[in-house]
Amino acid sequence: MHTIMIDTSLDISIENTPQSRVAELDQDNLKFGRQFSDHMFIADYRDGQWQELRIVPFGPMEFNPALAVIHYGQTIFEGLKAYRSDAGQVRVFRPSANWARFNLSAERMCMPTIPEEIFVGGLKKLLQLDEAWVPNRPQSSLYIRPFMFATDEYIGIRPSDTYRFMIFTSPVGAYYSEPVRVKIETEYTRAFPGGTGYAKSAGNYAGALYPTVKAQKQGFHQLIWTDGLEHKYIEEAGTMNLAFVIDGKLISPQPSETILHGITRNSLLQMARDLGISVEERRVTVDEVVTALRDGKMQEAFGIGTAATLAPIAMISYQGEELPLPSPTDNAVGDQLRKALDDLRYGRAEDPHGWLMPI
Ligand code: PMP
Repeated sequence: MHTIMIDTSLDISIENTPQSRVAELDQDNLKFGRQFSDHMFIADYRDGQWQELRIVPFGPMEFNPALAVIHYGQTIFEGLKAYRSDAGQVRVFRPSANWARFNLSAERMCMPTIPEEIFVGGLKKLLQLDEAWVPNRPQSSLYIRPFMFATDEYIGIRPSDTYRFMIFTSPVGAYYSEPVRVKIETEYTRAFPGGTGYAKSAGNYAGALYPTVKAQKQGFHQLIWTDGLEHKYIEEAGTMNLAFVIDGKLISPQPSETILHGITRNSLLQMARDLGISVEERRVTVDEVVTALRDGKMQEAFGIGTAATLAPIAMISYQGEELPLPSPTDNAVGDQLRKALDDLRYGRAEDPHGWLMPI
């Protein structure tokens, strides 16, 4: 278990909002990523140091048009969630795992790493202030968006000397309302060996838009990415990792240089093992998935990630052939895992791995 030591002497200046907007929030109609809580956390990196830690009212910022990030995309982000338990307690799911991944992304993009005290400590302070924004409806949560961007006012191409780190939060409900239809992508690619696929850098997401929009126009919710060399291996789906149930085994493509190391995936596979479900993490071929679908051996398929949690897949299309998944049976693996995760997050079960951090 990872114990989080947060330096409570972190020197954070706080400017409270003069007027909270929380009363205007309609908890029964939360749209993903459109409403933002009262405050935001900011730290600036200058002269080789993180400084001026502060929390201020959420609102617009003004920038010089030459700001480095706008031109060359030197920016990274994270996504995690805080949940309100049935008893009303607010806890954040595995913030240190997001912090560690943030620093991996930072290194890949030539950006400074950030100490855990600032990432997790800033987050904790922000949530203490905006606690009332954590919804209490079923399947709802407070989505947390930490990010960092290059702030040099200079249009030469080189790593910036200065950066801004920020965190803001957004109350959210369920993500997909129905099982998803996906297409195995064999023309475009998201990531390639030696590239930036394992980092949460903005460019990866910008590059994914065109093929995703194309797939959506064809009637799919999402793509399943395949490897960029041969389109032979299954990688991940949009902003979700993947898992399949074939012959009663839970099989998930192993994170790599080209597959994001998802924290939900890591957690769900651990929970599956705890439940005695047999788990395989390895490379998964397109051929294996398509054959299992055609032969009726694929029992379940789902996407897993912070935003969507566990999104059941209803149909996988491969080169024009639509391959439906069977309707989930009682005691389906996906249902068992979703329930185990919900029980943990909403405080109905023990937290044996110490994944939830109270604020
Ligand atoms: N893959 C990609 C490309 C993603 O952006 C995300 C969302 N962070 C995931 C997978 C799922 O990761 P996590 O479970 O940590 O949210």
